Amino acid sequence: MSAMFCDQCEQTFRGTGCVEQGVCGKSPNMESLQKILLYGLKGMAAYKHHARRLGKTDPVVEEFFEEALFATVTNVNFDLESLLDLVMKCGQTNLRTMQLLNDGHVEVMGKPAPVEITEGIQEGPGILVTGHDMVDLRDLLDQTAGKGVNVYTHGEMMPAHMYPNLRKDPHLKGHYGDAWQKQLREFEEFGGPIVATTNCVQIPRPNNTYLDRFYTMRVTAVPGATIIPGNDFSPVIKRALEIGPLKPTKLKKSTIGFHQTVLLGLADKIVEAVKAGRIKRFLVIGGCDGAEPGRNYFFDYATNAPKDTVILTLGCGKFRIRNFDYGTIDLGGGVVVPRLLDMGQCNDAYGAIQVALALSKAFNCGVNDLPLTLVISWFEQKAVAVLLTLLSLGVKGIKLGPALPAFVTPDVLKILQGKFDLQPIGQDGRKDVAQTMGIA
Ligand code: SF4
Ligand code: SF4
Repeated sequence: MSAMFCDQCEQTFRGTGCVEQGVCGKSPNMESLQKILLYGLKGMAAYKHHARRLGKTDPVVEEFFEEALFATVTNVNFDLESLLDLVMKCGQTNLRTMQLLNDGHVEVMGKPAPVEITEGIQEGPGILVTGHDMVDLRDLLDQTAGKGVNVYTHGEMMPAHMYPNLRKDPHLKGHYGDAWQKQLREFEEFGGPIVATTNCVQIPRPNNTYLDRFYTMRVTAVPGATIIPGNDFSPVIKRALEIGPLKPTKLKKSTIGFHQTVLLGLADKIVEAVKAGRIKRFLVIGGCDGAEPGRNYFFDYATNAPKDTVILTLGCGKFRIRNFDYGTIDLGGGVVVPRLLDMGQCNDAYGAIQVALALSKAFNCGVNDLPLTLVISWFEQKAVAVLLTLLSLGVKGIKLGPALPAFVTPDVLKILQGKFDLQPIGQDGRKDVAQTMGIA
């Protein structure tokens, strides 16, 4: 018997949910588009939440949330074309939402700039901050100033160092850790208190001992950790001083902070380098990381890309590819940049879009005619919102992995592939990048 595809209302089939065709007439394809819309809204809600905390809102975004959620209520919308239009409109509204968040970050935290950071734990007491919320970090830095407590970013908080109003604090010592799926071990080894401002958090295992120094903000929560309702970090600071100096680790340096404002500032040089053939292709490799097998595809793809390619990365997917020496590329006029350009958090996909739009204007062609390939790793709903934004801009040929979303039915996938040539990643990143570059 086919699997149940919807259980949203009372008139389910024998009370167990509808299979094959809904009692109301809804088809699995309609439910699939409604799910894509709902998951896009969830992702957008996270960005909207951060933007609001930076003082940025837009009634147009609010209005769309109502409209889109209403469209998924039972017996409201049974038309695939109309649902697909709403899915695309969700993409456009997420573009506006990411713009609000970008503008909020730049206005409140300052204009980003490339910066060399120190990775690893240093002498003294310390607090680790993970998640995505820069306002929490700003508040914590204010409250720890002069207290002899160091602050470290973890995971997706690494881009915080590119903002002058955050890195101005000398006790923002550096970064510790990798992508979210390694936190059970990393939080254990860190030794000091951890503050999770948003996802992704994991539920500590019974053998984990850090619950009594694990704090979460607002709606972020795991059983046994302490929720901080407002922005009073005094319990965390008290715990850090109680624990005392952390065990220092080996230190290393890395350069991050190639925010869109930085790259747009280099636009002329970048265009020149493309025209001169020093840059043959831009590869956007990033998004969400995760523990599933098959994600090494992204490492193989990036590390086997020829030297005349530039790799733009963002989101925690960067941790899958960043521990490799990609070398540098000469933009001309004495300007040399790393081949791997870290643009920031998953929401900084907005920046990658602005760079692509600027290049398409400079070369007087469409984004799909640029020497540009998007190899996107997804995991959760923010990545769905970003994907819908890219599709709503008409971006074609996106490679998506490690697997295509299970909530997309084969018929709906056919529509998306027909319209946008959306492709699942292959098995072999080396082979695929050679194909992309036409050297296979
Ligand atoms: S909304 Fe339609 S498909 Fe879903 S459970 Fe109700 S009757 Fe079934
Ligand atoms: S980029 Fe996505 S998967 Fe990674 S930490 Fe953020 S929300 Fe989680």
